Amino acid sequence: MNEPMSDRGPAIDLEARLSLNDTFRFACGPHVPCFTECCGKLELLLTPYDVLRLRRRLGMTSEEFLDRHSITRHRTGHGLPEVMMLMDRESGRKCPFVTSQGCTVYEDRPGACRIYPLGRASTRDRSDGSHREFYFTVREQHCKGFLETTQWTVREWIADQGMEEYNRFNDLLMELYVLKSRRKEITLGTQHLQMFMMSLYNGERFREFVFKSGFLKKFKIEPELVASLENDDTALLEFAVRWLRFALFREPVLEVRSR
Ligand code: SF4
Ligand code: SF4
Repeated sequence: MNEPMSDRGPAIDLEARLSLNDTFRFACGPHVPCFTECCGKLELLLTPYDVLRLRRRLGMTSEEFLDRHSITRHRTGHGLPEVMMLMDRESGRKCPFVTSQGCTVYEDRPGACRIYPLGRASTRDRSDGSHREFYFTVREQHCKGFLETTQWTVREWIADQGMEEYNRFNDLLMELYVLKSRRKEITLGTQHLQMFMMSLYNGERFREFVFKSGFLKKFKIEPELVASLENDDTALLEFAVRWLRFALFREPVLEVRSR
């Protein structure tokens, strides 16, 4: 799921499930009276793909971005670390990227900012591995976008907001959360959680781990994949999820070389 949480408490209509062809009315932009109001006093979860897009946009390393713009929290529920955008305390907890003209990282804004006013839930069918999804509306009281008359299908909104790649990475990440909740016999210690953070949120260090630690001597990895891991950040992130399924949850998704 992908909705930003605000102090004002969004009304999430889970009963009214929306499929890709269902419609809703909404518009946002400098013309709405609430323009940028939603960019403050919110808890904004950053996925690994969000961090990758933002840090490249800002010309930062992963470490620089995480140090400057995020905090990590450990929730008791699923037990895996969560990275949150660090809001600016001096301006009343506004997002560091908002100005009166709007979002300064718009083309690379996080998935939660893109998908609003929708939320998405997806599940994986264990029999064939396919993902099933549905959408729902998230109505925040201060949001006047719902008073606008522009009509969208969910499919149009997802395409217009460039959500496809974000959804793909959310589904990959969700596999780790599902494994964490299903494999209750597995306890993750501090080192496992550090591996989780490094692999997903610090691509530069994960790349070093793959190419400079003897990793490729230990595991059989397809040669074309090895080539793409050297310089394709999204391929590396996708591989990081595969690595964590193997390393943390003992899923047979990597083959160890015989000696
Ligand atoms: S219409 Fe809603 S999403 Fe757009 S600026 Fe206003 S509060 Fe934010
Ligand atoms: S990243 Fe952009 S859209 Fe998202 S909360 Fe910050 S300013 Fe608003």
